[in-house]
Amino acid sequence: MMAQYLEIKAGYPDALLFYRMGDFYELFFDDAVAAAEALDIALTKRGKHDGADIPMCGVPVHAAEGYLLTLIRKGFRVAVGEQLETPAEAKKRGHKSVVKRDVVRLVTPGTLTEESLLEARRHNYLAAFAEVRDDSALAWVDISTGAFHVMAVPTARLGPELARLAPSELLVSEGKAADHRELETEFGLALTELARSSFDSTGAEKRICALYAVSSLEGFGSFGRAEVSAMGALIDYLELTQRGKLPLLRKPVREASARTVQIDAATRRNLELTQGLSGGRGGTLLSVMDRTSTAGGARLLERRISSPSRVLETIRARQEAVTYTLENSKLRADIRQRLRNVPDLERALSRLSLDRGGPRDLAAVRNGLTEAAQIVALLDGGDMAGLLQTARRGLEGHETLIDLLDEALVAEPPLLVRDGGFIAQGYSIELDEVRKLRDEGRGVIAGMQAQFVSDTGISSLKIKHNNVLGYFVEVTATHAEKMLSPPLSETFIHRQTTANQVRFTTIELSDLETRILNAGNHANQLERTLYETLRQAVLDQAGPIGAASAALAEIDLACALADLAQAEDWSCPTVDSSRAFEIIGGRHPVVEHALKQQGGTPFIANDCNLSAEDDAAIWLLTGPNMAGKSTYLRQNALIALIAQMGSYVPATSAHIGVVSQLFSRVGASDDLARGRSTFMVEMVETAAILNQADDRALVILDEIGRGTATYDGLSIAWATLEHLHDVNRARALFATHYHEMTALAGKLDGVANATVTVKEWEGEVIFLHEVKKGAADRSYGVQVAQLAGLPLSVIARARVVLEALEKGEREGGATQKTLIDDLPLFATTPAPPPPAPKTSPLDTMMADIMPDELTPREALDMLYKLKEAA
Ligand code: ADP
Repeated sequence: MMAQYLEIKAGYPDALLFYRMGDFYELFFDDAVAAAEALDIALTKRGKHDGADIPMCGVPVHAAEGYLLTLIRKGFRVAVGEQLETPAEAKKRGHKSVVKRDVVRLVTPGTLTEESLLEARRHNYLAAFAEVRDDSALAWVDISTGAFHVMAVPTARLGPELARLAPSELLVSEGKAADHRELETEFGLALTELARSSFDSTGAEKRICALYAVSSLEGFGSFGRAEVSAMGALIDYLELTQRGKLPLLRKPVREASARTVQIDAATRRNLELTQGLSGGRGGTLLSVMDRTSTAGGARLLERRISSPSRVLETIRARQEAVTYTLENSKLRADIRQRLRNVPDLERALSRLSLDRGGPRDLAAVRNGLTEAAQIVALLDGGDMAGLLQTARRGLEGHETLIDLLDEALVAEPPLLVRDGGFIAQGYSIELDEVRKLRDEGRGVIAGMQAQFVSDTGISSLKIKHNNVLGYFVEVTATHAEKMLSPPLSETFIHRQTTANQVRFTTIELSDLETRILNAGNHANQLERTLYETLRQAVLDQAGPIGAASAALAEIDLACALADLAQAEDWSCPTVDSSRAFEIIGGRHPVVEHALKQQGGTPFIANDCNLSAEDDAAIWLLTGPNMAGKSTYLRQNALIALIAQMGSYVPATSAHIGVVSQLFSRVGASDDLARGRSTFMVEMVETAAILNQADDRALVILDEIGRGTATYDGLSIAWATLEHLHDVNRARALFATHYHEMTALAGKLDGVANATVTVKEWEGEVIFLHEVKKGAADRSYGVQVAQLAGLPLSVIARARVVLEALEKGEREGGATQKTLIDDLPLFATTPAPPPPAPKTSPLDTMMADIMPDELTPREALDMLYKLKEAA
């Protein structure tokens, strides 16, 4: 056995080998040590190899999925080695034969299909990056749904595309992993090297043609060498990991970067589109927008948010679908009611294709298609939006398959084929007969027990069943003697004595048992065969079923966005090819949602107008910390993005000329993993924007230059703004602390000042969160610091320093030297006495009121008194 183990293991040096032994998967040697630590399970030993103990650990087969998930999350790959025959079959081959085993599957992060290992509402992409001479391309596939895409991607754009897709595994050619190591931490993906031959574009073309059974790729579109290479590598890897069983892959779709808004990795992170800064889904745009009813719809929403369109027809077609379902609210409610019963068709289909599914997946197909047929009946409007009409066609024509599955399957089948009992009564005469035999046998047992009771006169006698003895007769020990002596001992053959019971069998009983067992086995076998034909019938319809699930997702999303628009009062934006950017009453959906949940102050809506004819249009935003600058910047970027995914937007109205690129430089964070300081990160991101933004870009920049000394920072911010205006000519929002910059508005056409208003009241600032044209008068930093709870002595001291600095500036030419001399830095200013409590007669009266002690009448009188005093 060890020899067999070592032989199999040699084929998978980089993976942990799960070696099936009966009800366990066992791991040996270094695999055992690594797995025991990762899974926190006991490490034992078994036998010796070259004189040393062999470390071993194991996981029970029935609980293996959970362990697999842990191992995959911790970055391992797992080769699952199964027994390919029963021990009995092995014995037949020869008395010392070891059971045949081989790896049936290599489990890696990008190739999961199990429901329990996947997040239902998210895609799980496996991607491959290929470089052929000067070209490079990225191909990606979700084997749990069959989606397959490819795109020419210059190396410089690999990061942004990975940020968009968030694949869990990336394949690169041998020797290339070192070049891309940083992608692992940046995007949390597993990097896998494949042999160069896997990426060879000639072989790749053959593999793709073979997969789709076509003689040339031309029918799918024209692909560059790099694209073919990336797709071929994916297919090769799937063959390797699925051991020849290829999942159902839809025809590769070529994506053009020119059709979607370009958003780089930093911008995605900053805007928290689908992933929060802390990693999860909480607080993301996706989380507040998701009202979909199906997993497929949720995944479509994630795709749309990640890749908003810049094609006007696409955007408008989606808007129309939302509008139609918004206006027909009864229809929408009916459809949503139906959608709630739609299972995850795509993933069920994929499991069936990999032969990793079961009866429940067949039922999912049946239930999904049945609901689809009902939805077709609902969608009967002649004036329906084009997108919905197309979707409706995708849902039609599944009657034959529905009828077949309806007839063949019980209402709620078990998960696994081996559990049996999923084929409905009346579907197969043969099966019904065998089942009858089996069930009658069970009835006969009951009759036999009654007979034995009367034969023996022992009323507590029972016929029971267990896995060791099969069926047996059981009496309590008190009756043992009677049973063991004639005449009863002639019929009852002793099998076992336990502490309290004695067990017997009879010839009659063991005959019956054989008949029941045979019938049971036969029934299971028949069911297995029927399962196989049903599975095939489903797979024959894989294309149309795939189309139906895509249509369901499309309908689901249109209804969900309509629901959102209605509940949150969103409006339909005008999107066109102008360079307009005019938003009235815009809101930040995530901040608004959070404020609503806290139940405190409402969100203040704000306008924005960056409409530009031929020139740049830039708003320079000033205002104290906490006033709402970042929120405002982000909300405008989000509104543009939401509009271009084809949704309604959180604003009273919006007019947006298509945005081609979205850039943001917001908030500062150290990138310690890459050894970059905050300032460095900020400059790298700013450089990327200034080098790439074109006149269709939308740029939001928050406090550029704050990570360095004041004059450095101001100069960098100043020059950046000028560059955006003169060279990039982009539409931009620019928030800054440097009030000096407001002078630029007078100097550059198209640059305007705006400020987030605050009110000062008795030495404290009150944030109004209102954006107005004009510049902030001061920064209120000291007041904000006071709000944050800095010790009063520090606040008081800061006021003194500030006054001195301002005075120095006013009088002009005050050098730092004189300032320092003026400020006795080490002479601590005594802390001011705590502000005297403001007491008014009203306060005194209030303090005296004890509500608990008042009668209603007294309370009323008190109210009158208070009113008088006020
Ligand atoms: P800044 O960038 O100016 O420091 P933020 O944008 O971070 O300020 O906003 C600070 C806080 O103010 C936010 O967390 C939010 O709770 C609140 N806020 C911002 N904008 C608004 C608004 N328009 N209406 C209501 N509250 C807001």
